[in-house]
Amino acid sequence: MSSLQKRNFQSGDTIMTQGQHGDNAFMIEKGRVEILIEKEKGLVQRVGTRGAGTIIGEMALIDDEPRTATIKATEECSLLEINRKEFNRRLENSDPVMRMVMQIVLTRYRDMLSRAAILGEQSGANQPEDLEREYAEKSNAVDTFKIANEFALAIERDELSLHYQPMIDLKTGSINGFEALMRWHHPEQGDISPNVFIPIAEETGLIAKASLWAFETACKALSKFQALSDNHSDLFMSVNFSSEDFTNPQLAHELLNILNRTGIKPNNIHLEITERLLISHPTRAKETLEKCRDAGMEISIDDFGTGYSSLSYLHYYPIDILKIDRSFIKNMNEDKTAQELAKSIIALGQNMGMKIIAEGVETERDASEVRAMGCDIAQGYFFSRPQDLNSALNFVNSAEFDF
Ligand code: C2E
Ligand code: CA
Ligand code: CA
Repeated sequence: MSSLQKRNFQSGDTIMTQGQHGDNAFMIEKGRVEILIEKEKGLVQRVGTRGAGTIIGEMALIDDEPRTATIKATEECSLLEINRKEFNRRLENSDPVMRMVMQIVLTRYRDMLSRAAILGEQSGANQPEDLEREYAEKSNAVDTFKIANEFALAIERDELSLHYQPMIDLKTGSINGFEALMRWHHPEQGDISPNVFIPIAEETGLIAKASLWAFETACKALSKFQALSDNHSDLFMSVNFSSEDFTNPQLAHELLNILNRTGIKPNNIHLEITERLLISHPTRAKETLEKCRDAGMEISIDDFGTGYSSLSYLHYYPIDILKIDRSFIKNMNEDKTAQELAKSIIALGQNMGMKIIAEGVETERDASEVRAMGCDIAQGYFFSRPQDLNSALNFVNSAEFDF
């Protein structure tokens, strides 16, 4: 971390001015300042002083509202400057739990101050406790915190499950694998979408445990799918991982242990990762992915085409499969550019010896189109929605697609 910049002020110098915007706060290292508020034009009141070890002007770290007071040095001062950009950068780099708590506290602080300012002019109907309660009821931040707290217990309480969505071999029309998708049934709130709880689990670091649980559960399910008949003995299972999972240097080792325990062959496993991961944890991700791949697992890039403009990572990492994001498939029929982009992605992947999976295939037309464009595998509501294990087991026995 870079150190904070030091600023010196002489007695009588103005450090910040009421009504002006600022994007910095100061930590007082040495000296003393006074806080002045102009309530009416020309009527300035001294509301306090601050000395070494305190912070002034901190609201500017949160938003761009005008300063609520003027602050002047009353003796020679040495201040350490914290600007908003630097503050956010430090916050981004802090421990995920710390980051979340800070964000909640800061949002709450800002909210309460601005509401108190508005309500301050009205008669005393709203006490701070009312504000606090109202805040708790309305705030997303508190919901997020609650969800994070409860997600921590969801695994033990048996509230998580996996649904399985078939993937179809476009040459034969038969199922050749599944993607495992996490589901959370909350006892009071009912089903919570993975689009809501996965980002929170990632943010708080809870995803690591959930991912290992998902991997093991998916392997156990795969052995049931494979046991259906000889035709099914080579079905694969594709499991989603987040970039946070790759901060665990033991990940490859733990996955291999699970494969051993469940008797699943590594070459029947696809690891689905996103482009974001490859950008954020380059060296460690590379090592882990190489270990997994050396063991026989295949590496698949999820939502391909939506992430980053740089494609150089395709050479750097061991990648076997590109999953074209469903936005391309969705827009393909109306939008020539989306279709051209999808074609370029397919050509790019094929030139690099990768398999191509099309996501979000919703109609028969989508299915024949992606096949004609050279995709190997397709997945989407046209074939099947994600289903619980029992329904998926029944489905495998009956399904054969002709399109
Ligand atoms: P994803 O990995 O891109 O998964 C595909 C999502 O698209 C799934 O949503 C699936 O139900 C949905 N989908 C499948 N076919 C179609 C289709 O034809 N049309 C449309 N419109 N949607 C389709 P779901 O299950 O709600 O999951 C949302 C996201 O949550 C996933 O997107 C993935 O990013 C994340 N997720 C789910 N399970 C896990 C998990 O176990 N671990 C991690 N890290 N992320 C997960
Ligand atoms: Ca996925
Ligand atoms: Ca996807």
